[in-house]
Parts: sequence; C-alpha cells; structure tokens
Amino acid sequence: MHTEVFVAGGGVGGLALAVKLASRGVHVTVAEQLDKTSPLYKGELLQPKTINILDSLGVLSDVHEYGNKIEDLEFQEVIRHSSGWLEEISNTKLTYNRLAGDFDYALMIPHDRIKAILKEKGEQFPEYFHYLAGARFLGFENGKAAIKWNKDKKFVEADVYVGAEGRSSPTREAMGVSVNRTDYNHHFLTVTIPRPDDFIEGKIVTTNRCLLGMFPLPDNEVRTVYLIKAGEYKQIKEKGLEYVYRAYGSLEPRLKEHVKAIKEWKKIQLMIPYTYHVDKYVTGNIALIGDAAHTVHPMAGEGMNLAIQDADVLGELVAWCKETGRHYHEYLADYEQVRRPHVEFLLKLSHLSAIVYSYPYEWWRRLRMKAVERMCEDDKLHEKQMLNISGLGKWDFSIVDRAIQAGAFPARKQTITDTQQLNHHFQDYPWKK
Ligand SMILES: Cc1cc2nc3c(=O)[nH]c(=O)nc-3n(C[C@H](O)[C@H](O)[C@H](O)COP(=O)(O)OP(=O)(O)OC[C@H]3O[C@@H](n4cnc5c(N)ncnc54)[C@H](O)[C@@H]3O)c2cc1C
Repeated sequence: MHTEVFVAGGGVGGLALAVKLASRGVHVTVAEQLDKTSPLYKGELLQPKTINILDSLGVLSDVHEYGNKIEDLEFQEVIRHSSGWLEEISNTKLTYNRLAGDFDYALMIPHDRIKAILKEKGEQFPEYFHYLAGARFLGFENGKAAIKWNKDKKFVEADVYVGAEGRSSPTREAMGVSVNRTDYNHHFLTVTIPRPDDFIEGKIVTTNRCLLGMFPLPDNEVRTVYLIKAGEYKQIKEKGLEYVYRAYGSLEPRLKEHVKAIKEWKKIQLMIPYTYHVDKYVTGNIALIGDAAHTVHPMAGEGMNLAIQDADVLGELVAWCKETGRHYHEYLADYEQVRRPHVEFLLKLSHLSAIVYSYPYEWWRRLRMKAVERMCEDDKLHEKQMLNISGLGKWDFSIVDRAIQAGAFPARKQTITDTQQLNHHFQDYPWKK
C-alpha cells in the first residue's frame, strides 16, 4: 500500500491533519486502532484559535450545531462555614470578548463529536482520505509502517509518516525520543451531569482546599472536574457517591440536585494530570503531533487544542510542499520551528495555572484571588491572559504586569486596542514568505 502521508492515530490531531491534507489534494492514510467510539473523557473545550482552524477546514457550522459557546469564565472564591453557609469572598469574570477578531469565544463539545465531524469531513474527499478503522500501528519495518489490521499484518509506504497516537506513541519510540514526565500533587474526578438551563458559562469555584470546575456542554449537560489530592481516589471511592453529592452541592448549590443523576461510580473518571515535552518533533520524514509530542496539565484546557494546532501547521506545510513541488523532508523541520515555541509557552502557562491551585494555604489563596481580580481590573493583563490561552497569539507578562497582579502597583487605566493585540498574533506559516 502506498500513500503520500501516513498518520498513526485517528484522534483529534490525526483527523484534523488528514482533513486538511485531503482537502488540499494530498493522499493521506489514517490508521486508527479503535473501531468504535470510546466513552473516555479526553477534553472538550475548544479555544478560539482551534475554532478558527475548524472554520478553515469547513466544519464551523457543525461545531456550532453540536457545541455550547462559552464567552465568560467566572472565578469564584468561597468559604464553606460549618453551618452550611457558603460565603463568597471574591467573584471575577474573565471574558473571551476582549479578543480582537471573529473568534472571541470558546466552545464546549463532546470529544467524540468533534472526531465524528472531522471524519465525516474527510470522507467528502474519498480520493484522498483513507481511514483504516481497527488498524494498529506497530512500528517501522524496512522503512515502511507496519500495521495490524483485520488480524493481518500489512505495510504502508509513505513519503511522510506522522505519529499522532497520543501519549503512548510507537512512532515516538521508533524515533528514539524519550519522555521526561512531571507529575502534580493533585488529581481530578471528572463526570458530566445535567445542568439548569441558565447555567451557561464556565465557572471555577474554589475554597483554600477544593476546586470544582464546571463547563457547560450542549443538551443541558455540564462537564465537571473536582480536584482531589494525588492518591486520594481510593479513599473517596470508599466514601461513596454521597461524598460527591455533598462536595458538589456545598460548592455549587445550583447543581445540588443535578449531581444526584450520577448513580454509579463508573461514570466518574479519574484524571491524573502530568506534562512532558519531547526534545524532537521531526526526524527525517517522520513527525510527531499532539500528545505524542507533548502533554499538558488540563487546567487551562489546552490539550486537544495543541493537537489540532500542530495538525494545522504541519498540514499547511505538507500541502504547500506538494502544491509548489518541494520535497517534504527538506521542510518538515519548519513545522517544529513554528510549533515548539508556541507549545512551550502554553505548557508553561498551563503549568502555572496548575500551581496556582496546587497549595491548600489561605495565604496562597489570597495571592491567587488578588492575581485573578487584577486581571479583570487591568485591561492589559486581561487581554494578555485571554490572548495567551486562546492560542491565537502570545503576549508575555512583564515584571510590571506581575507586580500589578501581586498588588504592588495599582491597576492601569489604559485600554488596549485591537491593533495592539493583533500585533501579537502568531504567524503560523512563515515558510510561505
Ligand atoms: C484522561 C484524559 C483527560 C484529558 N482531559 C483533557 C482536558 O480536560 N482538556 C484538554 O484540552 N485535553 C485533555 N486531555 C488531553 C487531550 O485528550 C489530548 O491532548 C488530545 O486528545 C490529544 O490529541 P491527539 O490526537 O494528539 O491524541 P489522542 O486524542 O490521544 O488520539 C490518539 C489516537 O491514536 C489512537 N492510537 C493510539 N495508539 C495507536 C496505534 N499504535 N495505532 C493506531 N492508533 C493508535 C488512539 O486510539 C486515539 O484515537 C485529556 C487526556 C486524557 C487521556
């Protein structure tokens, strides 16, 4: 079997890459080990840059149809009194509307839905898009990709091979790239539950010890994440669902009854956050995208976004090579040059967001509270934060910014213009110049 691009793994990254290539007349073969959808939770928040990319792939209307727009993120700090009284001590809203341009919102969509949308789009280019369901990529033999498909071993020869298998990547192993993993002192329980109609924006409620994140999905559902100490899962499970009902109800009274829709523990997934970033994305004609190359703490909701953004840049490069008659392998390094600094930046930002919620001290909480409040009071801080998490661009925080956040300097009066913000947008395809 011969193809121009072979992609191991049909997750969000592999599929986004395949759709882009097929739509530009590049023959692409995706080998996906699963032959049906998986119920595993794997991220559902689409950031503005990713929505922009999905628009360019021609699937924006489907994404809107099956997604729930998120415009604001509410950060509420509370004290839970023994009487049951929930005292709000801080409430701050950050808004995606501060972003310049059309993509000034995020969107929650079930993970499998986004994959189904991409796969259906790919199938609109049957001459170029080849999807092998139930095909497990085993590694390389004699320069070809070996796959196990329908119990047989088959070989695929390609001009470019892409590892998009997620965290456990045979392509990465074949490249001899190792992973240096950093773990955290906390884990998360995550589950989707029903929500009231008017619960439509993202919200994080915190005490000095607990965190409950709520991100509304369509169909009156809400994805919840509840922070627990690393290693505490077994103990909590022994306490039973009553513990979860009480924890949720005491932090978000609006969900007090809705959380009781969880009837079995198996609906609740344990999520163990960790991060790594490989030191090499490209070797010869082999490249890594998405979680095969990097994984990120979920606090800032970036994981699947980074995978789709990698796919966009690599896809554009490969399509451009074909359209202009250039040799793929001579240009693959440009993909890494563009993506590595962007990914590095977002990994750091996510790591910092995780640290902010990692320590159960009251003084630490006060610092966090101040930092978030200042982001709302100071337009430059607000815009920088939203731009950075959106994936659209990068605007570093300066020492002055950090001093304002810590409360050492007053918030600035100036507002930022769209032009100032647009100057910090990423240039994703520099080779075209
Ligand atoms: C438990 C969990 C929770 C997460 N929570 C969040 C979150 O809250 N927010 C967020 O943004 N991100 C989250 N992520 C991360 C997010 O899921 C990933 O960053 C994103 O899915 C990466 O996309 P990908 O395409 O690179 O890899 P994946 O989505 O992992 O896709 C890889 C695909 O490759 C297939 N595959 C694997 N090995 C082979 C093989 N040998 N041959 C063929 N196919 C293979 C897999 O079946 C899968 O379909 C979470 C991930 C996990 C595991």
